[in-house]
Amino acid sequence: MLNNTNYDAIVVGSGISGGWAAKELTEKGLNVLILERGRPVEHVKDYVTEHKGIWDFKYRNMPDRELYDKEYFVQKNNHAFSELTRHFFNNDLKNPYDYNEDKPFYWLRGDVLGGRSLTWGRQVYRFSELDFKANKQDNHGVDWPIRYDDIKDWYSYVEKFIGVSGQAENLPQLPDSEFLPPMQFTKIEQDMKNSIAEHFDDRMMTIGRCAILTKPHNGRAPCHYCGPCHRGCMTGSYFSSQSSTLPAAKKTGKLTIRSHSVVEKLDYDPLTKKVTGVQVIDANSKEKILFTSKLVFLCASTVGSTQILLHSKSENFPNGLANSSGVLGHYLMDHTIGMSAMGVIPGSEEDYHYGNRPNGTYIPRFKNLNKQQTSFLRGYGYQGWGGRMDWRGTHAAKSGFGKDFKEDLQQPGPWGVGLIGFGECLPRFENYMKLSTSKVDSYGIPQVEFNFEWSKNELDMREDMAKEGEAILKACGAIDIELSTHIHPGGGAIHEMGTARMGNDPKTSVLNNFNQCHDVANVYVTDGSCMTSASCVNPSLTYMALTARAVDHAVKQLATNFS
Ligand SMILES: Cc1cc2nc3c(=O)[nH]c(=O)nc-3n(C[C@H](O)[C@H](O)[C@H](O)COP(=O)(O)OP(=O)(O)OC[C@H]3O[C@@H](n4cnc5c(N)ncnc54)[C@H](O)[C@@H]3O)c2cc1C
Ligand code: SF4
Repeated sequence: MLNNTNYDAIVVGSGISGGWAAKELTEKGLNVLILERGRPVEHVKDYVTEHKGIWDFKYRNMPDRELYDKEYFVQKNNHAFSELTRHFFNNDLKNPYDYNEDKPFYWLRGDVLGGRSLTWGRQVYRFSELDFKANKQDNHGVDWPIRYDDIKDWYSYVEKFIGVSGQAENLPQLPDSEFLPPMQFTKIEQDMKNSIAEHFDDRMMTIGRCAILTKPHNGRAPCHYCGPCHRGCMTGSYFSSQSSTLPAAKKTGKLTIRSHSVVEKLDYDPLTKKVTGVQVIDANSKEKILFTSKLVFLCASTVGSTQILLHSKSENFPNGLANSSGVLGHYLMDHTIGMSAMGVIPGSEEDYHYGNRPNGTYIPRFKNLNKQQTSFLRGYGYQGWGGRMDWRGTHAAKSGFGKDFKEDLQQPGPWGVGLIGFGECLPRFENYMKLSTSKVDSYGIPQVEFNFEWSKNELDMREDMAKEGEAILKACGAIDIELSTHIHPGGGAIHEMGTARMGNDPKTSVLNNFNQCHDVANVYVTDGSCMTSASCVNPSLTYMALTARAVDHAVKQLATNFS
């Protein structure tokens, strides 16, 4: 095995959390190596489909069913996956994993430089005090070792850098961020907001909070509402590793990025009780290389980081590194989504909206806030939308012919509205990932196996989401309401979390209150695997805040050699 230069810190993964770790570590003066298993993606140059019309594509952005069924049978379930974005997602045939067919789990991934920061939906919401206390209050999972006050300044720190547009609402269950100006409602959304205020005293609607600029910010241009964000954004108007954190880290002159570098395992030294090296397989040459550093940040995403820890077995850690508790891999969570309500609101045909606003609306959690109201624990919020429909929503089922039909197709349809529930999932030991004992991937690394099932709590919550979604749409005057009852498998919300949770007690958790492994002082894990509970809001903002906070701690610890 080749040996390689000694760095101050190694960051595994270059997605949302890895980009943040690299930025913070380099800005604090450390020489940092990012190890990224995917190919390089250069800002602007590699957004190869960004400004192409769909007529430039063979299938006009419709699915190539044969190819998808054969090679993208998991990724095709991702709403952002298409002929136009496929190059940012994994080929499932080449990246196998396992699950019981009765309990599917969607592992939706983009192993490229920048990870899923290139394709994410950019919705960003803070966890609240209610979320950090939830486990303790209803006795599921373990108690978070932090509270809202411990992280709130780090949320502000992150938000001021990434740029978050939104409206301050002063809600205890959804703390406000450091906002850039909010995006505007469409006519029908404003009407919906008013109707909700008129008919309900427990719920409200706000504009989505998103990591997209509404004015110039930190050298990046505001969004011009072109729409196809998942293809990349040359103006850097949405937050990605490429547009924001990696340039900041590069500016320090202290960053080295090594792509095509599959981290296999970490080397543990029982004498110092620290990790001394990171073992890598070069994805092109299949050569094995050892990189050494004083500090390691695992940011390879929830499943990726836990896979590395589970595979890093030694005499001291026969069940995986930092796993003296035995909980590594367990308490896997995702949000339960897909229980949606869609409808049409008649009238207002004289109004229209302009541009492709890359953001929706949000109805924050309103159940079980101050007291337990329902048979299920915790709660859910709705992401929504209201806009004029077009021929795809209204005419697709119609038949027609000739000039009149074509002209008809060009007319805007009625105002459509929709709500999609995002519900909190309880942390449960029975939901886990582990390493296969019989199957390996093309690098010889044991494949990940998932065992995940929704509990009665999430299923009951979904019933409520549908009932209340319908009630909201009716109160807003919607007709032709359709409820979707499709139950997405775990992973479908692309918010996989847990598996290396934070906690106060090393006997029941993997990480301490600063994301540092209880068992190995120079290893920090700051992606979604650290999450002790899931809340019902999109989680990536919390990963970023926890990462920045962890770096601050790690650099101080490094100065004392983790004593
Ligand atoms: C379509 C879509 C919409 C989404 N919308 C939202 C949203 O609106 N709001 C929100 O909060 N979240 C959203 N998410 C989820 C969000 O993208 C993830 O939570 C976030 O990217 C996680 O950050 P991460 O750094 O942990 O992982 P990633 O961004 O996935 O990055 C992990 C990186 O690690 C690399 N890696 C993995 N294993 C190894 C290894 N062994 N060796 C070296 N490198 C490795 C990967 O290649 C990857 O580049 C969305 C995701 C998708 C795909
Ligand atoms: S809509 Fe805005 S954020 Fe999205 S690609 Fe266009 S300019 Fe960028």
